Amino acid sequence: SKWVYSFGAGRNEGSAQMRNLLGGKGANLAEMASIGLPVPPGFTITTEVCTAYYENGRQYPAELREQVAEALARVETAVGLKFGDHQKPLLVSVRSGARVSMPGMMDTVLNLGLNDQTVDGLANASGDARFAWDSYRRFIQMFGSVVLDVDHHRFEEIIEHVKLDRGVLEDTELTAQDWHRVVAGYKDMVEEVTGEPFPQDPEAQLWGAIGAVFGSWMNQRANTYRRLHDIPESWGTAVNVQAMVFGNMGSDCATGVCFTRDPSTGENIFYGEYLINAQGEDVVAGIRTPQPMSEARAKPGERSMEAAMPAAYAELVQVRATLEKHYHDMQDIEFTVQQNKLYMLQTRNGKRTAAASLKIAVDMAREGLIDEKEAVQRVNPAALDQLLHPTLDPSAKRSAIAKGLPASPGAACGVIVFSADEAEARAQKGEAVILVRIETSPEDIHGMHAAKGILTTRGGMTSHAAVVARGMGRPCVAGAGSITVDYASQALMAGGRTLRGGETITLDGATGEVFAGTVAMIEPKLSGDFATLMEWADKVRRLKVRANAETPVDADTARKFGAEGIGLCRTEHMFFDPERIGAVRQMIMAETEQGRRAALARLLPFQRADFLDLFRIMAGLPVTIRLLDPPLHEFLPHAEHELAEVAETLGADVEAMKRRAAELSEANPMLGHRGCRLGVTFPEIYEMQARAIFEAAVAIGKETHKAPVPEIMIPLVAMTRELEITRAMVDKVAQQVFAESGYHVTYQVGTMIELPRAALIADRIAEAADFFSFGTNDLTQTVFGLSRDDAGKFLPTYVEKGILPKDPFVSIDIDGVGALVRIAAEKGRGVKPDLKLGICGEHGGDPASIHFCESVGLDYVSCSPYRVPVARLAAAQAAL
Ligand code: ADP
Ligand code: MG
Ligand code: MG
Repeated sequence: SKWVYSFGAGRNEGSAQMRNLLGGKGANLAEMASIGLPVPPGFTITTEVCTAYYENGRQYPAELREQVAEALARVETAVGLKFGDHQKPLLVSVRSGARVSMPGMMDTVLNLGLNDQTVDGLANASGDARFAWDSYRRFIQMFGSVVLDVDHHRFEEIIEHVKLDRGVLEDTELTAQDWHRVVAGYKDMVEEVTGEPFPQDPEAQLWGAIGAVFGSWMNQRANTYRRLHDIPESWGTAVNVQAMVFGNMGSDCATGVCFTRDPSTGENIFYGEYLINAQGEDVVAGIRTPQPMSEARAKPGERSMEAAMPAAYAELVQVRATLEKHYHDMQDIEFTVQQNKLYMLQTRNGKRTAAASLKIAVDMAREGLIDEKEAVQRVNPAALDQLLHPTLDPSAKRSAIAKGLPASPGAACGVIVFSADEAEARAQKGEAVILVRIETSPEDIHGMHAAKGILTTRGGMTSHAAVVARGMGRPCVAGAGSITVDYASQALMAGGRTLRGGETITLDGATGEVFAGTVAMIEPKLSGDFATLMEWADKVRRLKVRANAETPVDADTARKFGAEGIGLCRTEHMFFDPERIGAVRQMIMAETEQGRRAALARLLPFQRADFLDLFRIMAGLPVTIRLLDPPLHEFLPHAEHELAEVAETLGADVEAMKRRAAELSEANPMLGHRGCRLGVTFPEIYEMQARAIFEAAVAIGKETHKAPVPEIMIPLVAMTRELEITRAMVDKVAQQVFAESGYHVTYQVGTMIELPRAALIADRIAEAADFFSFGTNDLTQTVFGLSRDDAGKFLPTYVEKGILPKDPFVSIDIDGVGALVRIAAEKGRGVKPDLKLGICGEHGGDPASIHFCESVGLDYVSCSPYRVPVARLAAAQAAL
């Protein structure tokens, strides 16, 4: 079989498509050579050799030596030099290259083939002894540290010694004679450390380096990296052997690393660094200061390549255009100039920031390099999320005091407050505040809304703080365990510092970092390229995108981000408002229907006003309103003053209230008295809510002659009968309101599918439903039998150990939860082919989950307002 593939000098046996066999570097070297770019000739030993080597007890395939010899002979002919020849020696580089670039693999060895004889040949042939001895010492140093495992400090000590002796500071001041001394020192030192003389036989050097590359595939660093990045061991690495070109031959030589566009902004400008008279990793090694590529980017005192080597630079500009035209993407390239002649040594698609990926995709589509659909595919929806929030200015000074979980993206800066009430009070006075809590609960919502950012010291990615913050688009760092919060003394302690309430901190919700003081920020830009890409995405997507929103502010944000309606309005969030919570408590603490009705009458005008606002903002768009869902337990008064307040409105005493609260408290509220169970047992609650919805819809209809179409959603249905009973209540209220007002609006009644039983009998439930909305948060809890609020204690371990690939509350569990969604969708549509299907909850904004929703044929996804653009883009990608 064929183990070796040649590239360059007119024989290109590989191509970019052969990345699996040749590794990324080898495949692209062959590709560049075959489109006519100047690539020094060489050959790639395939990844299959690596695999075979490990399968056969570290033995190479029998034909390998012969194939390497043939390929090497071809390189010799191509460049007119001979490997090991004393007069005209061929030197090569030995470079590793897996399918994906992988830190931990062997470093490149340059100038291989030099020894005590060939170094003189190189000196004579080039007429430059200093260059030859510099190359030789580089080779011993690289081969010594990479292949022979000699500590690199040992080499540096020797150079330092020679410099000191000669009284010079810079490497560049050393002469041929000095490098000669360095080489002698190196050889002695290597022999002392390894017990053997430095290998002089080029053949032995070559196989030593090849063996080191294959050996590095199984080293500790590479193994760890593979485990963390899910790279299978079976992929193996390739080895590239390539004729050397020299950037260290004088002032008409250089080496550089650059991007075809600016990888941080995406700007269409040649971006990168180069060094004159240098080799290999000098540019990144930091020994000398690299210079900019383009004159436009040169600062005073810098010498751009454009100015210093105009001819080679012009050639490189051509190459840049050729590469982008060929690869249709921004490239990250490595090159060397030898005596004004350009050589290409590497290309690959360049890594870039979220902002750059957006700009490059849109620009390239406009330039005709890619089409609009391709541009839509190019931008990672998750990265888009970053662009919608302020970010920390990368160049700003900062002092980190702690690190927690990156729970909700964006940066925020403000004064520390330790309670929701204080957050609200200070925010109303126009102060920017950061709410700092050990953990948050539903009672903190108003403070979270008022705050610029939220910091908790306990809880995971799906803790209350994290979920609510993401929903509101507030930056959040959760579970920063190294911070101690002391409410009593109004202080937090972290990293040996104490910060008090009123002092300023900055959060980075994208990294989880917490900083003392103010860190400068960059505001997001939603116009221009962002708007263009969204427009292209909207053209191709099938899934509609709605938002989960209940407040006018959220609904407005959702519209601004392009939501096509509301997919989930959680009415209970409206109940926590300080103005209303009294009436809510009065209702749940009342012992009689009459008592409850009196309290509900107080709530009706509030609810009606809420819906009026929402219907106005969402004019002409669907609005799904979920009737009361959470366990009453959550609204119970706890504090003495809360109990006293309720006692007063109900004309009861505090002791009676305490008894009632104890009666209502539940052992397992998430599986308790909640959802439609409330509607069945306390019909007056749902009746009030239905009345508020219909009265608001009628009012808007009369006012604008364009009535909204409310979609009323019954939560937590497990049995058909539950839906039939609650639906009948809603229908009855609708008829009453229409009769009273003399005005009729169309509406729908549907249910959430969030219990396994509901999914399994979805055909029967569909008889009573106009739509299904998959409540995958609760469905995940009930399918796995795990509580979201408690999962933080073990889920991270599960993910770490690979028991679960991802947090199932973040990305839908396709095998389990997804199977139930599929069953319910099929059963429902089997009965009612036009049954509307949607998904609400965290998964509605998760790209992988959105792909799943597309595959099941749902009609829409609904997510928090700030995730709407992410969902629009993900939905477009899912459709392509
Ligand atoms: P990495 O994967 O770490 O970038 P490379 O194999 O690309 O390692 O090698 C690093 C650098 O070594 C290259 O950017 C280039 O400057 C230099 N290099 C590699 N091969 C050659 C060669 N044949 N001639 C000259 N320089 C080379
Ligand atoms: Mg490289
Ligand atoms: Mg639910």
